[in-house]
Amino acid sequence: MTANTSDPERLYLDFDSFFASAEQHFNPALRGKPVGVVALDSPHTGCIAVSREAKLLGVKTNTLAKDARRQVPDMIFVVARPDVYVRLHKRILEVVETIVPIQHVRSIDEVVCALLPSEGRQGLALAARIKTALRAAFSPVLTCSIGMAATELLAKVAAERQKPDGAVLLKTQDLPGALADLSISKLPGIGEGMVTRLAAAGVTSFPELWALAPKQARAIWGNVEGERFLQELHGTHAPRSETKKRMFGHSRVLPNDWRSPERVEDCAKQLLASAARRLRRTDLRASKLTLSTRSQRFRSSRAKNAEVERWSWEGHFPPSRDDRTFRRCLMQGFEAVRRDVRFEPHAVTVTLHGLTAEADITGDLLSALSDDTQERDKWEGVSDVMDTLRARFGSNALALGTHDAVPGGYVGAKIAFGRIPEAEDFEAAPGEDGDTHFCTF
Ligand SMILES: [Mg+2]
Repeated sequence: MTANTSDPERLYLDFDSFFASAEQHFNPALRGKPVGVVALDSPHTGCIAVSREAKLLGVKTNTLAKDARRQVPDMIFVVARPDVYVRLHKRILEVVETIVPIQHVRSIDEVVCALLPSEGRQGLALAARIKTALRAAFSPVLTCSIGMAATELLAKVAAERQKPDGAVLLKTQDLPGALADLSISKLPGIGEGMVTRLAAAGVTSFPELWALAPKQARAIWGNVEGERFLQELHGTHAPRSETKKRMFGHSRVLPNDWRSPERVEDCAKQLLASAARRLRRTDLRASKLTLSTRSQRFRSSRAKNAEVERWSWEGHFPPSRDDRTFRRCLMQGFEAVRRDVRFEPHAVTVTLHGLTAEADITGDLLSALSDDTQERDKWEGVSDVMDTLRARFGSNALALGTHDAVPGGYVGAKIAFGRIPEAEDFEAAPGEDGDTHFCTF
């Protein structure tokens, strides 16, 4: 058989309602039922995932739990268990890799595979083999949608075409017709702002987008990204430039009873400790700390940006990796909070940035920057020892000063876009897979 130029070169795999399916996988009693996964045991929090049964009843991801309950009175709510999902994610990768090697992990429930010509030629039969392997290793509830196409962008779009449990092979020669009905706002990387810019340039449909000249795309995007996007859309790989790590940060929405100055400070300390531990697992040092807070939960659809009060402060120090330096800087930040902030904080963010690689800092420079090298070395040693102990006994095992767990747990272990936490990010000792955490409301 000769290679056909229309054979797909990328396979994109996206799990359906991943956190909700994971809960149903681990607890068979939840299967076939409307389930909502929330970050906190509170009806005022949004569902970070809803099961397909709940979706069929009209409940969307991000719906507040109390609204979802009104929509679907027998909906079951469970608290997210990130450590369990991360372990499942790792097992899933192993199973997928028995069929086809993974090129990139794009999120906790999305991976892309680069296909050899022999794999591409198998077409949807390859997708079916992956699904069979996953079903055998896990359970029928843990389904995924698979897209196969010439490029990662097209494969991701193809995976979105048929959900849940879909498999779609998108051929470049069938474009733009095959996606003529696709709203361009559904394309990965096309946000609200870009839809507006495209509309201003007279582009409102997929065929119009597809027909753009590379030069036009660059002008609309305002950078080379537009040209890359168009290339991928036309079936030519445009490798992403891998972004270098530029910060370590954590945010936290504060429960009602965690908005007093002392508690906000306590929460910020925990966020900082977690960011610092992540930093120390790299060979990087930070020289800046940003502390920020805002007045109310930001909801993109309803609340306008202007209604949210924001405050931010930045502190500087010599390139460091020890808790004491970071903690001292944070305390200066809180002096500024007490002086300047006049609103009740609803969320707090702590970020370590201004990163330099250890290797880029010469010993002399470091000594020149630090007023007391010996003191710094000592505190770095203390921080390393504490990290080692936390890794062995759980991260609540010890901390500088007192430590009150923030409700909801998992400080710093939030599963954000593109960052999958490591086992060491989790506060408590690992939970059992089958130990569903039912909400009390
Ligand atoms: Mg998904």
